[in-house]
Amino acid sequence: MPDTRIHYIRAKDEPAVFKAKWVIKDPWTILENAGIAVAAGRITSVLDTVPSGPSVTDCGPGILMPPLVNAHMHLELSALAHRLPLGKGFEPWVKALLTARDSLGPSALIRAARHAVQALPGQGTGLVGEVSTLGLTRSLLTDPGLAGVWFQEYLGTGYPAPDLAADFPLSASAAGHAPHTTSPDLLRYLKNRIQKAGLVFSIHVAESDAEMRFIEGNNRSWHDFLIQRGIDPKDWPVGNKTPVKYLKDLGILGPHTLAVHLLQVTDTDLDLLADTKTCICLCPRSNQNLHNRIPDIPALLKRHLKPALGTDSLASCESLSLFDEMAFVRHLCPKVSPADIFAMATKNGASALGLADRFGTLSPGKQSEFIYLDTGVSSRDQVLEKVICYGTR
Ligand SMILES: [Zn+2]
Repeated sequence: MPDTRIHYIRAKDEPAVFKAKWVIKDPWTILENAGIAVAAGRITSVLDTVPSGPSVTDCGPGILMPPLVNAHMHLELSALAHRLPLGKGFEPWVKALLTARDSLGPSALIRAARHAVQALPGQGTGLVGEVSTLGLTRSLLTDPGLAGVWFQEYLGTGYPAPDLAADFPLSASAAGHAPHTTSPDLLRYLKNRIQKAGLVFSIHVAESDAEMRFIEGNNRSWHDFLIQRGIDPKDWPVGNKTPVKYLKDLGILGPHTLAVHLLQVTDTDLDLLADTKTCICLCPRSNQNLHNRIPDIPALLKRHLKPALGTDSLASCESLSLFDEMAFVRHLCPKVSPADIFAMATKNGASALGLADRFGTLSPGKQSEFIYLDTGVSSRDQVLEKVICYGTR
């Protein structure tokens, strides 16, 4: 059922003002009885006081805020919702996923992905990082008017020719699957091409035990599995290192790389991520469901890393709602401030996807798109708490 209290507003091109009892300009600036002036598809100013007039729309007593950003998801796995074993370990889940995905076939995958993507604006999401292994979801993102980056994901070896396009509202980029599934040559090749195109590169990193052990050089069974799949990892420079260090040595880290998960990282890894200004994205509900743990968010924030939030797919997560993801983080990490959690779902995600000039805050120059959350709050102190606890944890 759509949530009738979440309204996704895309202002038309004519000059107009939208006001509300509360306006979250950014995670650290909350205005009362304020408004947003827009024209020609952009925010022109943020108004502390709003004069009345025919071009003013009073949204009501609730909260006007930036669209939410889902920086990592896989729409093409939406058909697998409620079909896979959660809580029984990662490897059984992966095997069940591959079997179920193959048995469903592309038309069922596309149908479920279309249904899921259409619901996103009604869940407050306006900007996405969508990762597609089968290449089925690119055209689906345009219908609900989403902005973001569509990543074609690669595993194994080879030198593919991804269709790269630095366009707005939707860019096309590429992703490496993970350090233990994608050859170092392919990772370097993709990163190099994407960098030249001015795009963001995405990769899962430091997620599973199998990955950690393989990169340490202690996972013969994963080595044998790769051989069975026709991939010979004998020249991969694994051994005595973490996945983050492995990617650093390959030259993959940097400000235009989005490292997703970081469930298992050392202090040195955190230093490497911070020193290289690598963008990071966390998917805590997916991690909890598959690995029974979540990343150390306070440690990441202490290093001044700015985590984005993603939901991963409906194969490992209950919903694609960022309200739900924020509520889960709030529940499991009560010491992380509401402003930091809200930043993860807005500003940090926009930066991670290379779209900080268009999304993430309600500031002049940003897209004239916002959410109105129709829920009352009696004081400024409660606004962010209300927003981050709004979802189902
Ligand atoms: Zn993922």
